[in-house]
Amino acid sequence: MQPLPWHLADFEKLVEARARLPHALLLHGSRGIGKLDFARALAQALLCEGPPAGAHPCGSCAACAWFESGMHPDYREVEPIEEEEREGEEGEKPRKGKKSTVIKIEQIRDLTAFINVASHRGGQKVVVIHPCEALNPNAANALLKSLEEPPPRTQFVLVSHRPHQLLATIKSRCSQLALRAPDPATAAAWLLARGMPDPPLALAHTANAPLLAVELDDSEYWGARAAFLRHLTARELDVLSASEAARDFPIPHVVIWLQKWAYDVVHYRVLGTVRYNPDQREAIARVASAVEPLEAMRFYREMVRQQRIAQHPLNARLFIEYLLLEYRDLVQPQGLAA
Ligand SMILES: [Zn+2]
Repeated sequence: MQPLPWHLADFEKLVEARARLPHALLLHGSRGIGKLDFARALAQALLCEGPPAGAHPCGSCAACAWFESGMHPDYREVEPIEEEEREGEEGEKPRKGKKSTVIKIEQIRDLTAFINVASHRGGQKVVVIHPCEALNPNAANALLKSLEEPPPRTQFVLVSHRPHQLLATIKSRCSQLALRAPDPATAAAWLLARGMPDPPLALAHTANAPLLAVELDDSEYWGARAAFLRHLTARELDVLSASEAARDFPIPHVVIWLQKWAYDVVHYRVLGTVRYNPDQREAIARVASAVEPLEAMRFYREMVRQQRIAQHPLNARLFIEYLLLEYRDLVQPQGLAA
């Protein structure tokens, strides 16, 4: 494992100080910039048994082989798991196929058992928790006990997109390292080297998060977005045919497209620039000049609110139709006589 290139200097500094590392590290920074890659690379460097290759794991010793196959016996990664793989907590029905968004206390109990037995390979043990804001309250309290009375030779690495959501008591037990997003030129060069067709658009669209851009790197996503935006930019918005077309796209995407669109309309109106949709600058400028700024702001806030329920709307078609009617209210208020 390697950290992403823009984190290399931070990584090397940390590994060179490995003898003095605090027992718990909290890596935080925005989503999609490579914090987990950093945490895994650090774990492998700490577990490596080969001759040191600078700050980097040797990649050829037995420990590196175990690590890279995901089976190192002294390494644990804890993250929210698929519901159907585990029983729900008491009184809670597991929902098939839905990714759980919490780390449960059973997972931390398993972890406690792991850190209380001796290391298999005689070195240290490493635990990565990702993202640690997913710990539910019971799990967070159970983890706190281990952080307060750290077992010998155990390195905790907590990873967080939203450190403000963590218990203050957990944060106070950790040494914090803020990982930065790459500058846009570095990120664009990195995406281009991976063969992405339009890195500046993907980076604008993901607020400069290269790993999120990689996740969206399929023509289906961009094709669907283009098709949907064609409806939004039509001279007259035809709500029925637009919502009919949008039925084939994942609803959370549709809400995010509308939300980013509204953000850009407001942004353009105030600052004369767009943030998320640089390829749609002209259309956004046209809409921005025609709408009431306060109404555009209200629509944007409504889309942020709708995002919370967009995972499970009761009726997908009606839900999209509602969003588009709201949008039509915004851009064609005179068309609302009915
Ligand atoms: Zn090694």
